[in-house]
Amino acid sequence: MDEMRIGVTGCAGRMGRMLLRVLAADPACTIAGGTDAPGSDAIGRDLGSLAGLPPLGIVVGEDPVDFFASVEGVVDFTTPAATMAHSELAAQARVPLVVGTTGLDARQQAAIERAARHTAIVQAANMSLGVNLLLALVERVAGSLGDDYDIEILEMHHRHKVDAPSGTALALGEAAAAGRAVALDAVAARGRDGITGERRPGDIGFAVLRGGDVAGEHAVVFAGEGERIELTHKATSREVFARGAVRALLWARDRGPGLYGMRDVLGLA
Ligand code: NAD
Repeated sequence: MDEMRIGVTGCAGRMGRMLLRVLAADPACTIAGGTDAPGSDAIGRDLGSLAGLPPLGIVVGEDPVDFFASVEGVVDFTTPAATMAHSELAAQARVPLVVGTTGLDARQQAAIERAARHTAIVQAANMSLGVNLLLALVERVAGSLGDDYDIEILEMHHRHKVDAPSGTALALGEAAAAGRAVALDAVAARGRDGITGERRPGDIGFAVLRGGDVAGEHAVVFAGEGERIELTHKATSREVFARGAVRALLWARDRGPGLYGMRDVLGLA
């Protein structure tokens, strides 16, 4: 099959630059363009130089409309507001889209779901193979253990991350809640401070650490009387997310409209 002509929105960001490096090394893909936020210092810079690669002869743009008309697929790791706008453009241009951005509110998520009626969208809070296996394991373990095993979810990320808990931590919470056949909203304990009272039976607790350059660490703890099970995933490089995102876009190339997850891409659904 011909190389897929792929564009990267937010190409000057931490994930954007990693995506450019992964795409440049993948014989199934060609880098077709990149955009960043209007007014960003990156506008007009060569995409290759931006990613520490030889120059590609393509510069970072700021007009997403032209950009969506000129590519066969887009990978988006930007901000919730930008992702919402990009999903609408992907729907209009019938271009498959991979959404890695986290922290979307209900209105922004609804826009993604609307756009997915017109094109294939793969959305996952975490694109790594390991985390997607972890999600399946957590659901199974939560389903096997009773409420007397308290579930706590810990995550740590670099100091620049702006949303908390991480999208992955929330997805792990959803998986644990699904295993217990409850709604996460009804049992999530997301902020403990001061005199909180005893732990409510059945709660799923979240704890958040921020610091340094941590790419992403998650642990799900099942704490019972006299024993504790801990399932942990540590990403040591952002490359795993970028490789997963590119794999998802190549998979989405021949799909009809719909909202898919990494479980679909990896055949775990
Ligand atoms: P970042 O801040 O380094 O990069 C975001 C980039 O998007 C910036 O360059 C910014 O200028 C750009 N941007 C903002 N508005 C834009 C617009 N309207 N058009 C084009 N570009 C725009 O952040 P990051 O660390 O790369 O993370 C980005 C997002 O991806 C976050 O939500 C993060 O949580 C998420 N993330 C997801 C995964 C995953 O596997 N799904 C992995 C890592 C990060």
